This record gives sequence, structure tokens and C-alpha cells, in this order.
Amino acid sequence: MSDASQLNFSQLNLSKAQTDNLNKLGYQTMTDIQAQALPLALNGKDIIAQAKTGSGKTAAFSLAILDKINPRFFGAQALILCPTRELATQVAQEMRKLGRHIANLKVVILSGGQSIGPQIGSLAHGAHIVVGTPGRIKDHLRKKTLEIDQIKTLVLDEADRMLDMGFRDDIEDIAAHTPEQRQTLLFSATYPDNIEKLSKHLQYEPQSIRIADTH
Ligand code: ADP
Ligand code: MG
Repeated sequence: MSDASQLNFSQLNLSKAQTDNLNKLGYQTMTDIQAQALPLALNGKDIIAQAKTGSGKTAAFSLAILDKINPRFFGAQALILCPTRELATQVAQEMRKLGRHIANLKVVILSGGQSIGPQIGSLAHGAHIVVGTPGRIKDHLRKKTLEIDQIKTLVLDEADRMLDMGFRDDIEDIAAHTPEQRQTLLFSATYPDNIEKLSKHLQYEPQSIRIADTH
């Protein structure tokens, strides 16, 4: 999964609690995308990254988000947009595992195809991290049941698929509700031309990372 340089998570400036949790989860060596993206993402840089499915992109953005979470502030501090309910659920599950050393960490899933009532109830109790699909996130913004004006990080996960599914305008509308000085992390399995256009609209001096599909 990773290259010969075998970078270890302990070489990053993560908290001891985070590194211990990674060890318990069996995460020791970083994958290539993690080794390239994490030092930049932890440093607050915007990133546009392409790496194939299964290469560990979730942890690459999740660890950067978790590093900045203030568990005492129960407002959305990070928003992750995903193309489908299934992917949003997978990302949320992985983030809960990676962040289980943070007491009371709340990761809420807001995706379409689910009734909105329980989502509103969940948000009313406060959430640190929101993972969802663009249409449903827009519904919550319209209803004012979700506020994202305090987020520090916006992630576009599987950005190529979101563009294929026609979410481009929704993504830009959502981004307009977030602070301008946010960190924006864009992850994709492929690198179509329209990805760069999206990046230009939403990112500030993004660092580009591309991991070749060698195997
Ligand atoms: P992608 O988003 O690139 O398709 P995922 O983030 O879903 O890939 O990761 C694929 C699998 O690899 C997941 O089961 C995840 O738990 C595991 N994984 C990711 N990074 C590591 C790592 N550094 N060490 C061990 N397992 C990892
Ligand atoms: Mg993924």
C-alpha cells in the first residue's frame, strides 16, 4: 500500500492520544497519499489530490480535521461532502474510529434518502463534524438547521463523482456559506479537466498531489 520510504504516523506532529489510537487500529505506516498529503494538510494548506480507490484518502483528510477539532465547541468545525449516502456513511464511520480518543466527539451524517427529522434532532444536540451529500446539506442550510459559518475545513471527497452527478452548483452554493479563510481539501480518484476548474473557484494556492496507479 505504501512506498519504500515507509513513513510512519509517529513522524507527524500528532498528539500522543492520536498516535496511540492509530497504533491500536493497526495503522503504522502511511500510505503514499497520506505521506504526501498529511504534512501539508496538517500545516493548513489547501490540497488537490488524486489517488485511486482504496489508497487511504479518508485518513488523509480526517487526521488533519481531527488535529484541529475543539471538542468543547459544539458547532460544525468541518464539513465533508460526499457523492452518495453509502460513501458518507463510510467516511463517518472511519472518522469516528480515527477520533475515538476524543471524548464526546460527534460526527453527524446528513445524507439524502433518509428522513430529515432525526437529522435535525441530531444537529440540535451539536456536532463537531458533518459528513453529507450536497443536496441534503443544502436542504439543511435552507431550513437553517445547519450552520457552517464557523467551519475550519471543507472537504470534497470523490470530487470527480460529485461532478459526474451534477453537484457542481450545489457544491459552490454550499461553499458560499462557509468562511472564506477556510482550508479546502479536494480528493478524487481521477483527474478530469473540470476538477481543476472547481479547484480554482474554491481553493487558495492548492498543493497538487497525484499518486500514479502503478498496481
Ligand atoms: P480511499 O478513500 O482512497 O478509497 P479509504 O480511505 O477508504 O480509501 O481506505 C481504504 C482502507 O484502507 C480502509 O479500510 C482503511 O481503514 C484502510 N487504511 C487506510 N490507511 C491505512 C493505513 N495507513 N494503515 C492501515 N490501513 C489503512
Ligand atoms: Mg474514499
